[in-house]
Amino acid sequence: MTAIEVAAPRLAWRIAEVREIIDETPRVRTLVLDVPGWPGHRPGQHIDVRLTGEDGYAAQRSYSIASAPEAPMVAITVERIATGEVSPYLASEVVPGDRFELRGPIGGYFVWSVASGGPLMLVAGGSGIAPLMAMLRHRAAVGASMPARLIYSSRSHEDIIYRDELARLAAAGDGLDVVHVLTRARPADWTGESRRIDAEMLARLSFPPSQRPFVYICGPTSLVESAARTLVTLGHDRRLIRTERFGPTGP
Ligand SMILES: Cc1cc2nc3c(=O)[nH]c(=O)nc-3n(C[C@H](O)[C@H](O)[C@H](O)COP(=O)(O)OP(=O)(O)OC[C@H]3O[C@@H](n4cnc5c(N)ncnc54)[C@H](O)[C@@H]3O)c2cc1C
Repeated sequence: MTAIEVAAPRLAWRIAEVREIIDETPRVRTLVLDVPGWPGHRPGQHIDVRLTGEDGYAAQRSYSIASAPEAPMVAITVERIATGEVSPYLASEVVPGDRFELRGPIGGYFVWSVASGGPLMLVAGGSGIAPLMAMLRHRAAVGASMPARLIYSSRSHEDIIYRDELARLAAAGDGLDVVHVLTRARPADWTGESRRIDAEMLARLSFPPSQRPFVYICGPTSLVESAARTLVTLGHDRRLIRTERFGPTGP
């Protein structure tokens, strides 16, 4: 066995059982999973899900862990991509009691915990909120109060994932602000941000670079790349900016 294999043993596949399904938006569901032997995780990490058909064909995809490490079960939040192979099954067909394989937790770069410190600056697009929600849930679960801000881009008000929970977290008065950005449709009385996240918005809403916030950006590739580039241009230290790309399109 080589030194590398000793340091990083191959992750084992485990059987997860779906315990609960939460409809988050018309296209997004959360699956709460019972995973016997789950070793625990850090906020921001993900799992791999493997689905195997009766003919032996297997498809594997990554999903961020949306639950806090303090939660009793592992939760993932899946957006249905109409033309996709795996997400339509997870986001539409799975029922409680179903089982599938997963392995994890995976990832050591896109992680934050209260011990990392703050301020914490989060930028999400669509289902990219999932790993950032694990961070916010963890922050709340341990009673932390370092400044935190979430800038969250959704297509419309009804597409905002975790809408009620985010409102409750922001109302707790523990230093978290949540700014919603709606890119396509707005309620008639909407007075908030109403276009794609851009340089003016990031300059106005980010913690100043002088405060050296830890920045986590997650979502569609285009949003992640443009937000990261813009924050560097605005003077943020690129070493404090961490990114995770979910896929090609944007909200
Ligand atoms: C580290 C990591 C964590 C992730 N976490 C999550 C998560 O928490 N929730 C979640 O919903 N997804 C997450 N994803 C994306 C997920 O892994 C899949 O790519 C997604 O569910 C689509 O898979 P599919 O099999 O349905 O589509 P595929 O069969 O892979 O693709 C079908 C078509 O859809 C396009 N497509 C693929 N992904 C997307 C996308 N995200 N948006 C728009 N079009 C797309 C493809 O280009 C292709 O044309 C994560 C990805 C990574 C790398």
